Amino acid sequence: MSIIFEPVENPMLRDRFWRNFERYEPKIVGECAGCKEEVYDYEEVYEFLEFDEPVIIHQDATCCRKFVAEHSMCKLAGES
Ligand SMILES: [Zn+2]
Repeated sequence: MSIIFEPVENPMLRDRFWRNFERYEPKIVGECAGCKEEVYDYEEVYEFLEFDEPVIIHQDATCCRKFVAEHSMCKLAGES
């Protein structure tokens, strides 16, 4: 007769993992001008001033594209 050992998770390791995970609480620092989602303090962003107001955009091509599309006119380059 053989005993099959189930892989047992070490509860000490698991607890330590979750404690570390919970210790880091990301803070919301603003709103992305592109996707309008919250920007957390650990995210990489572009920041600039628009009418003396700081604008932040995720360093993400989609966010940048949305921002530019919202702030410009969509047209053919040859049109006046
Ligand atoms: Zn964004």
